[in-house]
Amino acid sequence: MTFVKIDGKKIEAGKIICLLRSYRAHAEEMGSKVSEKPEFFLKPGTAIIHGGDEIIIPGESDDVHHEVELAVIIGKPGKNISVETAMEHVAGYAVMIDVTARDIQAVAKKAGKPWTVAKGFDTFAPISDGVSASRVPDPRNLEIWLKVNGQYRQRSCTGMMIYSIPEIISHISGIMTLEAGDIIATGTPEGVSRLVPGDAVTAGIGSVGEINVSVSKCPVKR
Ligand code: MG
Repeated sequence: MTFVKIDGKKIEAGKIICLLRSYRAHAEEMGSKVSEKPEFFLKPGTAIIHGGDEIIIPGESDDVHHEVELAVIIGKPGKNISVETAMEHVAGYAVMIDVTARDIQAVAKKAGKPWTVAKGFDTFAPISDGVSASRVPDPRNLEIWLKVNGQYRQRSCTGMMIYSIPEIISHISGIMTLEAGDIIATGTPEGVSRLVPGDAVTAGIGSVGEINVSVSKCPVKR
């Protein structure tokens, strides 16, 4: 079972919905523009790993990037959720790293193809143990950071996010039903960079938590 933990309790993970370009400075570093409504893609739940596990760089990629993101974990299912009631659907929060094969993504972008491969490899969704929503009174006022081998690569504040969490939930639920255990990765701030085998990655968000993972390379190219 793929799972996330909230306050130590395991919950079966559902779909992973990942926002793109939700921090202006990251959109700029990628040469992209932000859009009025949140845009997103899906990552399979099978990509989930936990603290102490290993990100495995696939044989066909030489440029795998980290993207630290605040993950919103859905507790109460819903469809067409209003902005006003959206927070009632949040069970808790966790730290997620949206691992991305940037070279594979660049080829897909150029060809107008989906990002499913670049984002969907096994181990490409490290997620920390989460905490319940009641323990995070202001999810838009949290330091968000990621270190590689003890050095900061990303360091920002969730307040720099362009969209509010209720707006994100309301918008997504107008398109697809949200279920308990679904994870919304709310996008990354600037500072994304390449990971290489042997790297030790630590990421954290304010009172939400921290995660430590290592990096290795799959020797087999399919
Ligand atoms: Mg991302």
